[in-house]
Amino acid sequence: MTESFESTIRAWHGESVVVSFDEPTGSWIFIALHDTRLGPASGGTRLKSYPRPVDGLIDALRLAEGMTYKWAGVQMPFGGGKAVLAIPGPLEAHARAGLLDRYAARLISLRGAFQTGVDLGTTPEDMDRIGALSGHAVGIIKGHRADPGPYTALGVFVGMRASLVERFGSDDFQGRSVLIQGVGDVGRPLAEMLAEAGAELFLTDLEPSAVQALADRLGATVVDVDDMWNLEVDIYSPCAIGATLNPDTVPRLRCKIVAGSANNQLLSPADAEALHARRILYAPDYVINAGGAIAFGHIHLGERDTDRLHERVRAIEGSLRAIYEEAGASNESPMLAANGRARRFLEASD
Ligand code: NAD
Repeated sequence: MTESFESTIRAWHGESVVVSFDEPTGSWIFIALHDTRLGPASGGTRLKSYPRPVDGLIDALRLAEGMTYKWAGVQMPFGGGKAVLAIPGPLEAHARAGLLDRYAARLISLRGAFQTGVDLGTTPEDMDRIGALSGHAVGIIKGHRADPGPYTALGVFVGMRASLVERFGSDDFQGRSVLIQGVGDVGRPLAEMLAEAGAELFLTDLEPSAVQALADRLGATVVDVDDMWNLEVDIYSPCAIGATLNPDTVPRLRCKIVAGSANNQLLSPADAEALHARRILYAPDYVINAGGAIAFGHIHLGERDTDRLHERVRAIEGSLRAIYEEAGASNESPMLAANGRARRFLEASD
């Protein structure tokens, strides 16, 4: 089927999408507001070149919906939103800056209905620029990068603890093995926390030199990207790309738990059910990877207390425990339990 702007928006169940064409760069600006029952829409700004403009729109709508569930999953007062700046190809610095400035003007016209932070293709410096112009973006705070990676890693770490308790009855990492796929902004600090907690670590990444240096520092073992599926571990932690849980990989998994930061880890909802059937505990991605979003939400709420922020991120552990408990009581997959819980929270705010 060939999607058009019209058919794509018709099929979407969100509230509204702001679309504009940026003549000087030939880019499309999409700001999708999926569900604002919990509060103003909040989500990252993605800057990317797509095969067709409609693919940028599809990405914005899909990601905005994901943000609705992410905020509801951690019970923060924000709605689901996402912006996509679909560029026709690489932009030179001056053109790129102009696009960001005109995007900031769109945010001003929305008067706070959408607030944003970094995503693929944008940097904290970009957000700082957009924030300075519009007041609706968070980038650099008092000279420090507002880096979500370590907060996302902390959320995954405490989420793993909840998963260990559910699967093994103890949150002790000693004697437990973890395979981390992707040691970037999230995987690296996560590996450090896990090494500190005494887990046996296996690391894999497309960048062999970076992963080897980290493994040497932490006493971890490097695994080739193609061999990782043969490895028997307690926890598989996808921290690189989406859709690594699919009909091809789920039957091959040799782990008891999947708990990682990647967005959209399941190729389709059926993969959560396939994991459940294999008794592999799956920590729903949008709950366990919400630490970075929580950090931005905290800043957007005007709060600066780091202890309170850590407390909020650590609450992911309790959220996952509640999800597992509910899933166990109704013998459904954790993904279905998480979705049901998020929907109830949204409906309660009506
Ligand atoms: P990153 O780009 O900093 O790191 C990703 C790492 O994965 C890189 O080192 C890359 O070489 C490696 N990689 C890519 N493809 C791979 C593959 N097939 N096999 C093994 N390694 C591979 O990204 P990040 O910020 O660490 O985010 C990791 C994942 O978590 C992404 O899916 C991202 O969308 C998601 N996520 C990140 C945050 C955050 O706070 N940064 C928040 C929520 C979700």
